[in-house]
Amino acid sequence: MRKPIIVGNWKMNKTIAEAVDFISAVDPYLDGVDTADFGVATSYLALENSIKNAKNLIIAAENCHFADNGAYTGEVSVPMLEEIGLKWCIVGHSERREMFGDTDETVNKKVKKLIEAGMTPIMCCGESLETFDAGKTEEWVRGQIAAGLDGVSGKDVAKMVIAYEPIWAIGTGKSATKEIAQDTCAIVRDQVKKMYGEEVAESVRIQYGGSVKPDNIATYMAEKDIDGALIGGASLKVDSFKAIIDAVK
Ligand code: PGA
Repeated sequence: MRKPIIVGNWKMNKTIAEAVDFISAVDPYLDGVDTADFGVATSYLALENSIKNAKNLIIAAENCHFADNGAYTGEVSVPMLEEIGLKWCIVGHSERREMFGDTDETVNKKVKKLIEAGMTPIMCCGESLETFDAGKTEEWVRGQIAAGLDGVSGKDVAKMVIAYEPIWAIGTGKSATKEIAQDTCAIVRDQVKKMYGEEVAESVRIQYGGSVKPDNIATYMAEKDIDGALIGGASLKVDSFKAIIDAVK
């Protein structure tokens, strides 16, 4: 049985003080909740204070670099994240792929680097509207998974989280239907099965993301291959996040 996992992706929102305020309000709400994992991904700056203030919430970075150090102006390495006690990191979010040059190849390097450091990657995949309209979602997503996991062991993939986020549903208010979300999450699982076999495919946790809100999350969670959600806009407000917790726990 896979434990549900809900992660808020705050993107470039919340100062350190705002992050700590949110965590102080939400973390105690999770006391005694062990039926699902809940977390938030914060800016690099807010990570250390967020980790210190969270007892229940998973705290994740939104990105990392694949090199340990070097001439990469403005980047943050996995050893730097390790030093502050970070355990989780989103990689390959479509915004990183579209605006900041992440490719399947760099995503794969980041996944491997995180695993090497004993951290858990939340690896994102998802197609553009053009790809969706052309009926090429399956091919696209299988390709992203195959490339992103290339050279990663089955034992490590089993512990990972993969987020399927159709780009056309992110921040648009136009969420995928539960059927589309389920079908593509099933494709992701099938791709993992092809690469690693049944046991790993049944262990890996797969999230849907794209305009998930308190009033639609239960619909997604009821689907067989959807084990959680990666949530942007609706994860920013305490009330909305608490409503999501209520709907899932
Ligand atoms: P959204 O963002 O929930 O605001 O659509 C999701 C994401 O980008 O992870």
